[in-house]
Amino acid sequence: MTPLTSSSKFKGVDILLTSQWPRGVWHYANNPEVNTKLCGSNSIASLADKLKPRYHFAALEGAHYERLPYRNHVVLQENAQHVSRFIALAAVNNPAKKKYLYAFNIIPMKTIDPAELVKQPQDVTENPYRCPTKDKMDTQKTAFSATEEEEPANQYFFDLSKKQGGGSRGHGRKRHSDGDGRGRDQQHHQGQPKQPRRHPQPSGPCWFCLASPQVEKHLVISIGTHCYLALAKGGLTPRHVLILPIGHYQSVVDLSSEVVEEMEKYKSALRKFYKSKGERCVLFERNYRSQHLQLQVVPVPLNRCATEDIKEAFMVQAQEQQMEMMEIPEHTDLKQIAPPGTPYFYVELDSGEKLFYRIQKHFPLQFGREVLASEAVLNIPTRADWKECKQSKEEEEESCKQLRDDFQPYDFTWDE
Ligand SMILES: [Zn+2]
Repeated sequence: MTPLTSSSKFKGVDILLTSQWPRGVWHYANNPEVNTKLCGSNSIASLADKLKPRYHFAALEGAHYERLPYRNHVVLQENAQHVSRFIALAAVNNPAKKKYLYAFNIIPMKTIDPAELVKQPQDVTENPYRCPTKDKMDTQKTAFSATEEEEPANQYFFDLSKKQGGGSRGHGRKRHSDGDGRGRDQQHHQGQPKQPRRHPQPSGPCWFCLASPQVEKHLVISIGTHCYLALAKGGLTPRHVLILPIGHYQSVVDLSSEVVEEMEKYKSALRKFYKSKGERCVLFERNYRSQHLQLQVVPVPLNRCATEDIKEAFMVQAQEQQMEMMEIPEHTDLKQIAPPGTPYFYVELDSGEKLFYRIQKHFPLQFGREVLASEAVLNIPTRADWKECKQSKEEEEESCKQLRDDFQPYDFTWDE
């Protein structure tokens, strides 16, 4: 008999029921109210990892826990697969009134539309069972942010946390010291827990999360509610900028609607700004080998070339490298052709025309710059590589200040 999972047709199972919890299911996610040092079985974890259940229910611990959904594929390396949800329920009629019933709708994997099946919810996390090693993960987490830190499990019964204050909560419930107040407040209400909602978090230090210490703040031009504008480091031209989400999002297709809306506001403000300088606006995004979305915005002088020429340059240079770039209808939602997790390269021209390339195996990281720097467009081939265009910090500060002043009349964040 060959094992089920060795078949290439095997995608996963709809529902898995186990008594024990899988060991480590809480990695990369919200913490359960159980002693994580002692809870769970490694065999169940390995079973769940192989079977890829869409819903995995477990009991035994007398606790209610809904883990954030996790991925079954490796982003940028494998095709998108469905996500798994782990739900633990407490005992029926437990006196603490913890949740013991869970109602849900499910369309079986056999009949669901494949695109629908692999849709990635916004709060999806990495696979907890493929966490390299426990120690490694904790170091990584600590390195990034203190809010992610787990309390050592041996302090569970004797809570030494300073934030505990009065100490009247000594009945074994863990609390998080949640620095920025985002999400993670499920501990405060027994019985009717909220669906855990958490902003996506980077898996390591990020240069573009505005709150991260690595951000080069002297490059920031404007800050909105969800997005910010920064001078491109080693930009192609002095007005080459980036629109970035303030929080950690990997690509445009991962953004929530408020973020998209503000990104559009920045785009239209920049278009007007460039127009006043006699320039047209070209935008591109590479969702490949990048953690945090950077929408590159490069102005091209109107008298240098027409939109058609820029489009042609992208098409021709892509073809030369055996990449099939396609034009997509103006109002296409990128999410429909690139579900989250799909690597792609995307260009938006000032006419509203959009070009799209689904990255297959390799992609020249500087492609967007190379095309725009080429003879056909800006004709500054030596500036294709940003490292060749690096400025000193003083020069960057100066350029940024200049740009901030010039852009200000178009900056909607000043009106609000
Ligand atoms: Zn980030």
